[in-house]
Parts: sequence; C-alpha cells; structure tokens
Amino acid sequence: MKLYPPKTGFATHCIHGCPDTNVTNSPVQPSIAQTSIFRLGSSADAEAIFSGSKAGYVYSRFGNPTVAELAQMIAELEGGGEALITSSGTAAVLCAVTAAMEGRSGPLVTHRDIYGGSFELVGMLSDIYRLPVELVDSTDNEAWIRAVSRAGAVLLETPCNPLMRLIDLERTIAAAKAGNVPVIVDNTVATPFNQQPFDFEVDWVVHSLSKYLNGHSDMIGGCLIHRTGLSSRHRAIHKNLGGTVNALDAWLVIRGLRTFALRMETHNRQALSVANWLAARPEVAQVHYPELPSHPQASLFRKQMTHGGGLLSFEFKRGETAAVQFIDRLRLIVHAVSLGGLESLVVRPASSTHRGMSSETRRLAGISDGLVRLSIGLENLDDILADLDQALAT
Ligand SMILES: *Cc1c(COP(=O)(O)O)cnc(C)c1O
Repeated sequence: MKLYPPKTGFATHCIHGCPDTNVTNSPVQPSIAQTSIFRLGSSADAEAIFSGSKAGYVYSRFGNPTVAELAQMIAELEGGGEALITSSGTAAVLCAVTAAMEGRSGPLVTHRDIYGGSFELVGMLSDIYRLPVELVDSTDNEAWIRAVSRAGAVLLETPCNPLMRLIDLERTIAAAKAGNVPVIVDNTVATPFNQQPFDFEVDWVVHSLSKYLNGHSDMIGGCLIHRTGLSSRHRAIHKNLGGTVNALDAWLVIRGLRTFALRMETHNRQALSVANWLAARPEVAQVHYPELPSHPQASLFRKQMTHGGGLLSFEFKRGETAAVQFIDRLRLIVHAVSLGGLESLVVRPASSTHRGMSSETRRLAGISDGLVRLSIGLENLDDILADLDQALAT
C-alpha cells in the first residue's frame, strides 16, 4: 500500500517523497543498492529486459534502484516529468546539450557569464567536435532574444553568478517557441525552492547536485530533468556518455534533500540580511543580490523568483587590496570554492573561479579585482555578521 499522498507541500515531499520507503514495512530510510550488476533470471527474463518489454535492472551505469529513487524525487521537486542523475553538474550540462542539439541545425546559444565550467565545456565542444556555439552578452536583451530565435538550442543560467544577473525566462521562451528551439535552464543557484523554470515551459532543467540539493559539501553530482518525460534516446545518451552516479552518492543526496526546504528558508533569510547589512557599510561600493530593491532587475526578480537565494557578491571601494585583506581576516567563513553547503564560504572570483580569463575579458564581464562572492550558510546570523564585521574593520 502506498502511504505517501502525492501533491503534498514542498517540505513534506523532501521528507516523504522517496518512493520505495512509502510501502508497508519498508525501511523508513532508503537502502543503498551498492552493486554494479543485477541477476537477469532465466534466458526468457533476460530477453524481456534487454528487449525492453519488461522493466528491469542490468548494470548500474544503465540504471540503479537508489539512483532511480533520487531521480523521481528530483523530477517532482522541479515539477518536471522525469530526471536523469549524473556524476557531476558538468556531466548533466553535457547530457542536456547533447540531447537538445540532436537533429538541430542552428548554433548552441549561451551567454558569456554562464558558469565557468559550462563556458569551458561548450568551448571545448566547439573546438574539438566543431559544435556551433554562439556566445551572447546576456545584458544585451535584444541581441539575446534575436540569438535565441534562430538557435539550435539554448543553454542559460539565471541568476548567474557572481554578479547575480537575471535572464528573462518568459521572453526567452516566447522567442524560442517560435522556432521550436529547446531551452535548457541551469537552476543550480536559484534551486527549485526559489524558482521553477518549468512554470515558464522550458524544456530541460539542469543542476549541480553538489550545491544546494545535496547541501552538505560531501559529494559531486548532477541531474537533468525533462519537462514532460524522457525518450529512450535521452536515456541512451545518458548511458553512453557514461557520466552516471554511484548509489552511495545518490543516497547522500536523498539524505541531504530531507532538510532541503528548511535549509533554503535559512539560506534565503540570512543572505538577504547579509546583503542589507553589507549595503549599509562604508567600505562597500555595491552589493549584487537579486532580492535587494537596488538590484537593476528587481521587477524581473519578482516575476520569476520567490526569494533571492543564498549567494551574493559585493565590491570593495578600495579594490583588490581590501578584498584580499578581508578574505585573509575571516575566521568563521571558509575560503573555498563552491556554494550551497551548510558552511558560509568566500572566494574572490578574479583569483579563483574567473582566473582563466584575461584581466581585460574579466573587466568586460564586470568581474572587478575587488569583487568578493559569499555563499551564506546556516551558522547563526550573529556569528556570520560578527565575522564579516571584524574582517572589514581597518
Ligand atoms: C557547480 C556548478 C555547475 C557544475 O557542477 P559540478 O557538480 O561542479 O560539475 C554547473 N552550474 C552551476 C551554476 C554551478 O554552480
């Protein structure tokens, strides 16, 4: 008997949404199917599984019960049809781009300020496999919409960090629909708690599970979700690209998801407080956070997001020297890349995530040497503010 009623609230789904733990006398926590292979049974059973006439597991790269549980939870959290889980967010982007570009003649359209790893990936696909790629400046709305309307497929990220710029989902989809252009949205920074791209009828949502969804900075993974459902071709692409996740890491994400709603409420609340606090400091030239009324796209924020999320960046009036000194003085906030974990993190993009760019390209992209990015964690807000305060003091 199924115990869990579908269509419950978001937090309830995070706690009770794991399908196989909702039948009588099942373990309340899912089991970890730590195996590479499955018994095929008789030759007739094997024939049925291989021919696809009967559902069944064969080999964990093709499918695994623990991974399948996670896929179902994630598809429901995003309000999509079906999901595939990958070994990293980058593998998810590769899978989604491959699926979306199949049979398409135009270029893959993306923007210059997309996540650095995705930027490098599409650059490599273009150099090595001659994938046609068009890079657009996302702040030039008209150029973006024109490129979308004649694209093979679109890969976009909103908000994109570190400057927390937004891309208009409604306008992008309207332009894409005219030419049947598949649109992939990287929802890693916003998370399904704060933004549901399927409400705007995008085709694919991708995530790095390594960030908020797992939330504990202890695994690397990704996922891609299709709005309506996966074709056998989509599943074949996922299987043959090979970037599948193992059962133990999938289990860690299921475990992390239990507290996802609770964590996001705190990330959202604390990041907004920190953004307001920083905006009032004399050392700070500018704070980039979508929920601040001073954000240049505040009305777009209200249209497509419910909260600003846990990530923000700010610029020092005194530039690089002040930013370096600030990072070196922090005691609680950890100097590390990534985002979305329990612990507050700090990086200076010019010297870390964006160091591959020339200083001229960085300047054009708006990444100043005095820019600092903060991922606000779940420590007590007073402790976070006290650490920021002592590090800012001159
Ligand atoms: C981290 C990240 C990725 C890549 O994910 P990995 O798990 O590191 O491969 C993709 N997009 C965004 C927005 C990210 O923050």
